[in-house]
Amino acid sequence: AVRALSGIRNLPAETLDGTRLTLQANLELPSEIPEARDVGAEGIGLLRTEFLFMNREDLPDEEEQSRLLEQIVSQMAPLPVTIRTLDVGGEKLAPSLGQHIGTSPNPAMGLRAIRLSLKMPDLLRTQLAAILRAARKGPVRILLPMISSPDQVTQARAILEQVARDLRASGVDIPDPLPPLGVMIEVPGAALAADSLAEVSDFFAIGTNDLISYTLAIDRGEERVANLYDPLHPGVLKLIRVAVDAARHAGKPVSVCGEMASDPRYTALFLGLGVRELSMGPKALPRIKARTRMLHHSRSQLLADDLLGEKQREKISEKLDRFLADLQ
Ligand code: PEP
Ligand code: MG
Repeated sequence: AVRALSGIRNLPAETLDGTRLTLQANLELPSEIPEARDVGAEGIGLLRTEFLFMNREDLPDEEEQSRLLEQIVSQMAPLPVTIRTLDVGGEKLAPSLGQHIGTSPNPAMGLRAIRLSLKMPDLLRTQLAAILRAARKGPVRILLPMISSPDQVTQARAILEQVARDLRASGVDIPDPLPPLGVMIEVPGAALAADSLAEVSDFFAIGTNDLISYTLAIDRGEERVANLYDPLHPGVLKLIRVAVDAARHAGKPVSVCGEMASDPRYTALFLGLGVRELSMGPKALPRIKARTRMLHHSRSQLLADDLLGEKQREKISEKLDRFLADLQ
C-alpha cells in the first residue's frame, strides 16, 4: 500500500469527473518540511508558530523569528506558506507567556490566541514584522487563530499595515501588496457569522478541532467526555456548511485544516460542500489524495446534501458508510 501511495506523488488530487483539490500540509516543526515536500504537498496550509515559543523561558525576538520563518518559506517556495500567529492559551502553553495569560477558571475560554495577541500588541507586532520579512522569500499568507468578531480582524490588519509602513521606512523591501490576511473559523459564532468575517478577511481556514470542541462543549483533553466529540454531529456539519457557503458567496478561498481533513472518511463530504483546499499532517496526504481520486464531485455533492438533510445522527453515519462502501 505504501508503494501504491508513493506512486501517486506526482498525480493531481483530482476526482474522476475532473474536480481538482489542493492538498497542503500542516506543520508544527520546521523539521517536518522534507516530509511535506516528499508527499507532494502543494504548500503549507497551516504553520503553527507555537514551536518558536516552546521549551524556553524568554520570548524570541524579531530577528530570531524571521530567520526561522524565512528558512521555512525559502524551503517551500514557490509554494505558499500560511503562517498562523501565535495560538497559545487553552491547551497550548508557552512558559514565557504564562504570567501574561495568568490563571483562568476556564482557560479554553480565556485569554488566548488572537485575544492575547491583541492584548500584547508588541508581541503581535514582532510576529507580524518577522512574517513580513519572511514574505520576501516566497508567497505567504497570514492566519489569525480563534477569531470571533470582525473587530479583531480590523485591529490586527491596522497593526499589520503599521508594521509594514515601519519596515518600509527602515528600508526593508517587503511585498506590495501585503500578504493575504485570513481567519481561522473555529468558534461556532464565527462560523454562524462567517459572512461578516468574509467582509474583512481575505480567506478562511476552518479548524474543525476547536470548532467541534466548542460546538459540543467538549474539552479537547477531557477523556471522560471524549466519546461525545463527534465530527458528524448535525450541528457541526451545519456550521461547516454555513462557513463554506459564506466564503464562496464572497469569493474568498476556504480550506479545512483540522483533523477531519486528514481522515479519508470525510473527503467526499468536504468536496461535496464546496471545499477545494484541505490541509493535514504530511503523513495523511497520500491517503487523502488516493481517496480524492476515487470520488466523483457530482456524487459527493449529493452525499453532502443528503447528510446535511438528515436529522438523526445514526442515519448520518449509516448513509456515509453506505456511500464509502460503494466506492470500493
Ligand atoms: C483546529 O482547531 O482545528 C486547528 C487546526 O488548530 P489547532 O489544532 O492548532 O487548534
Ligand atoms: Mg484551533
